[in-house]
Amino acid sequence: MSELKPCPFCGGDNLQLSSHCGYRARMSPTGEIFSIRCLVCSVAFPSEYKKDLLVGKWNNRSPQDKHTIITNHLNVLAECIKSVPVPEHGREHNIKMRDAILNVMASSVEVVR
Ligand SMILES: [Zn+2]
Repeated sequence: MSELKPCPFCGGDNLQLSSHCGYRARMSPTGEIFSIRCLVCSVAFPSEYKKDLLVGKWNNRSPQDKHTIITNHLNVLAECIKSVPVPEHGREHNIKMRDAILNVMASSVEVVR
């Protein structure tokens, strides 16, 4: 079997290539259906009736390096933190806490502020 590159969505390498039976397999030109699932983020790749074709499609997804993936996740997290109203109780303290968290995230990676 061709080697699978890491998941193009999360960078995970715990991947499962499965063959399936049933109606779709019986109707496919090869009598088989294959799919790939990332067991880290649960993304599933559409089924193909040729294993090599499926592996080729999986491996040709535009790869994201781990830095880009982490940056994207942290940007989403930063937007969530910024969108939550700062609690009124201890407001000044809560604003400092929020800003401290955002500063740590921004200094770790290139978080858009
Ligand atoms: Zn994944």
